[in-house]
Amino acid sequence: MPRQFFVGGNFKMNPISRGQKATIISTLNSADLDSATEVVIAPPSLYLIPLRDIVRKEIQVSAQNCYFKDSGAFTGEISPAQLVDAKIPYVILGHSERRSLFHETSEFVAQKTKAALSSTLKVILCVGETLQEREAGQTASVVEKQLQAVVDVLQESDWSGIVIAYEPVWAIGTGKVATSAQAQEAHADIRKFLAQAVSSATAENTRIIYGGSVTAANCKELSTQLDVDGFLVGGASLKPEFVDIINAKR
Ligand code: PGA
Repeated sequence: MPRQFFVGGNFKMNPISRGQKATIISTLNSADLDSATEVVIAPPSLYLIPLRDIVRKEIQVSAQNCYFKDSGAFTGEISPAQLVDAKIPYVILGHSERRSLFHETSEFVAQKTKAALSSTLKVILCVGETLQEREAGQTASVVEKQLQAVVDVLQESDWSGIVIAYEPVWAIGTGKVATSAQAQEAHADIRKFLAQAVSSATAENTRIIYGGSVTAANCKELSTQLDVDGFLVGGASLKPEFVDIINAKR
């Protein structure tokens, strides 16, 4: 079965006003969207339930993070069980901003991924190298190390709940998008790694999406690459051009 194209909108810590929120949702609700693409939006946790209730039903909602315990004395955290209870189907884990600004290690991301999947959440698992690592020729090894930590704690069947987002850190929020050749090479390496570390079926079936300065202008070319199964979009997901990115395959 071909892998379904997937486009996620990572709103990060935006928007901050009710007006901005209403504009984003009304744009999505009235747009002509490619029904073959799976679409997910990830607003701040405060807005998960209200946005889930007003966004069109074809669009799913995702948390931007969660903890690995289901309840307890963990001030400021949200649990996988709470997200499931609120009927939120997805969570983003391992975003580079969490790894760098909030010091999340690959082992911690793996622990959270396992907990989220056991609670029946689906996970958008982010990996990617810094500019320094790319320039040192370490892209594949850095990404493999981030993935290996997850491989170590999951069973093969768990992988059906994961979408991998390859997001080179140097491309996130910088306007410096990876070339389609760079994206394709990294995605193909990830698929090869999955085949060897998990199974060939997992490698074949797992969606690997690209994130980092995706716009309406560059999404079409990226989407033609064999191993690019969609996008995780930050800045442009807050703008009307998010619709063009969702429709990149048309
Ligand atoms: P960007 O962010 O599209 O603004 O570069 C992507 C992301 O962080 O997921």
